[in-house]
Amino acid sequence: MMYNSRMISIRTIESLSHIQKDLEEYSRDVISQLNLEEENYRELSVDVKFINSGSYFDKNGIMIERKKSDHNFSEQDWCELLFKHELTHFLTSHIWGNPVALFFEGIAVYVSDMKIRHKILSTDYNKNAKILIETNNYIPFEKILRSDQYLSRRTDFRCDTISGSFISFLVENYNLEKIKNVFEQSNIPTVKNPHLNINQVCKKIFGKDIFALERQWMIWLSGNYVLGKVEVELFKSKINFVNDLKKRCQFCLWPNTMNDKNICTHCHCDNSIQIVID
Ligand SMILES: [Zn+2]
Ligand SMILES: [Zn+2]
Repeated sequence: MMYNSRMISIRTIESLSHIQKDLEEYSRDVISQLNLEEENYRELSVDVKFINSGSYFDKNGIMIERKKSDHNFSEQDWCELLFKHELTHFLTSHIWGNPVALFFEGIAVYVSDMKIRHKILSTDYNKNAKILIETNNYIPFEKILRSDQYLSRRTDFRCDTISGSFISFLVENYNLEKIKNVFEQSNIPTVKNPHLNINQVCKKIFGKDIFALERQWMIWLSGNYVLGKVEVELFKSKINFVNDLKKRCQFCLWPNTMNDKNICTHCHCDNSIQIVID
């Protein structure tokens, strides 16, 4: 089935036709949050499928994980969260470009997870980020700035808490346009050019490098979010970090592909090459 109304085309199989209208409404919200121009998404079409485990996007569409029975969310809310998250990736990668995961995941978390979890579970990502910092459970940018580092910790919820809160800070204190500029001007490190230009890009756009932005965000959190003692204790009791790091390739970002000579068996790139952040 296909639905098309000056929108991105959403294609689902017949058995999903009952959620077609929901998906269309979710995509309208994502497009409006990202402030996209119609001429940029009009030609795009998204195939939507449901799968049993893990959600992802590729150049043709979006795979959504079916809700597990022990979940806090209703089926519809879960679908909304995953669809909006993956659609944000789909649209930003098609239209804006591919920056480091801190921005790439951060914008999807900001558009989807952060708002929906707040609505359903009263989760506040900014407060939680502040609690991570104040309880010494924080992961500094220097450890998650490269996409392979961030994605190696994919199952550690702290990364998305940090990136979502950081992006919300940038939207409030700068604007979405500047975040879009980061996407447009970012490079992807290669073996020939093992450089990540995130500091240059941030200096040009925000007038300061990524670590200065990190400090500014932390000051903003400490001045704006008042934590109740009960809140902190409750969050701390829920902190259950997942520490199974799945090392990713620095270049293609695939997990668990390194052989004993540090060569990726997927893209054949040598991972002993050091990526320079500048
Ligand atoms: Zn994502
Ligand atoms: Zn690789």
